[in-house]
Amino acid sequence: MSDIVIIGGGAAGMMAAIFAAGRLGDGSRITLLDKNDRLGRKIYLTGKGRCNITNMRPWNEFSRHIHPDSRFFKPAFKCFSNEAVRTFFEEAGVPVTIEQGRRLFPVSMRAADVAQALERRVKECGVKILYNTSWKQEFDSKALIVSTGGRSYPITGSTGDGYDIARSFGHNVTRVFPSLTALMPAGYSYRGTVELRNVALALYVDRDLVQREEGEMSFTNDGIEGALGFRVSRRAVWALENGQKVTLSLDLKPALSPQQINDRIEREIENDTSLKSVPKLLRRLLPADLVQPFLEVHNGLSISMIPEALKDWRFPIISCKGYERAVVTAGGVSLKEINPKTMESLVRPGLFFAGEVLDLDGDTGGYNLQVAFSTGALAGISAADYLMSI
Ligand SMILES: Cc1cc2nc3c(=O)[nH]c(=O)nc-3n(C[C@H](O)[C@H](O)[C@H](O)COP(=O)(O)OP(=O)(O)OC[C@H]3O[C@@H](n4cnc5c(N)ncnc54)[C@H](O)[C@@H]3O)c2cc1C
Repeated sequence: MSDIVIIGGGAAGMMAAIFAAGRLGDGSRITLLDKNDRLGRKIYLTGKGRCNITNMRPWNEFSRHIHPDSRFFKPAFKCFSNEAVRTFFEEAGVPVTIEQGRRLFPVSMRAADVAQALERRVKECGVKILYNTSWKQEFDSKALIVSTGGRSYPITGSTGDGYDIARSFGHNVTRVFPSLTALMPAGYSYRGTVELRNVALALYVDRDLVQREEGEMSFTNDGIEGALGFRVSRRAVWALENGQKVTLSLDLKPALSPQQINDRIEREIENDTSLKSVPKLLRRLLPADLVQPFLEVHNGLSISMIPEALKDWRFPIISCKGYERAVVTAGGVSLKEINPKTMESLVRPGLFFAGEVLDLDGDTGGYNLQVAFSTGALAGISAADYLMSI
């Protein structure tokens, strides 16, 4: 049917098509198929519609945000780095800008611009695109690239099909679980959104402190999320799925010691004696929407107990939001059976994997799209080389 068939036209599949076409100098030898009526459907949702394309941190920092094994990802990153991704989009007519945390966005802040630029490049390369088409064994090809994504946001077409495809070729798939997702505390009833800045969130598993992060987080209808909530969610969900006890501790004043908070409270009361009431005092120390939930949990709170309570607000976590709202799927096609220098299967020659379908995921901050772009580019080049070698 075609020399190279690529299953899944997301970030990874489109990049694979573009790079394979570039290497072969002939895109017509490649067929890209996707279930949807347009390519890159998930990209339209990324970065809250703004698309955090990648992160511009150097590899030694970047690698700390890749799980479970950044060493596997290194050759792909070297093949098509964050710098190269930046140049790629600028040349494709998407000017980019670096925001806080070295995150790269389109200047337009429109994720659609990123998705459409990729789809345009695929078409310009002459790649044959089959829309509304799910992969079937009958699609014969000399090389096959599986870039079907994970299981998160199934509405975008990522429904975990690639795991069965991988298994059908004899590959092992590690346990998959939702990551970068909201964590639900026991008895949680908060409705609305409160965003907190400059706070710290610590994750305890079976009473052991396993992770502590500082930055921003939010309470929403779905539980604890935002950058910090997402950052601890990978380990939290894994622990929940293992039946372990998961607790989050929120430090609302990480820059202050309990003594410093106490001194501040004393000063406030000296200036205004009406603040001797706990709720009034809390209104000075907390966002207004949090005062009531805070008081509900901290029964019988006295003024002298406030400093410790502000630094250690405990949330027993009972569940997570699940795939329908998880930014990424952790776990996937086992890295042990894939050559990191080519993305080729060690089980079946001519079979390649790219993107989220792999047991490879990143933190929030542009890391997941870079994983998709880099592994996609490397798989595309390698599939073309494979064709030329047989
Ligand atoms: C809400 C949201 C926001 C995000 N924001 C960011 C962000 O700002 N920055 C960042 O780096 N990452 C972000 N991510 C993560 C990032 O979007 C993904 O990790 C990345 O898009 C994965 O790319 P992929 O090509 O591997 O898979 P996908 O994008 O999931 O693409 C897989 C494609 O395969 C197709 N497919 C699946 N099965 C079949 C089949 N059997 N036959 C044919 N086609 C099939 C699907 O239709 C889909 O189009 C976000 C994710 C979500 C859900």
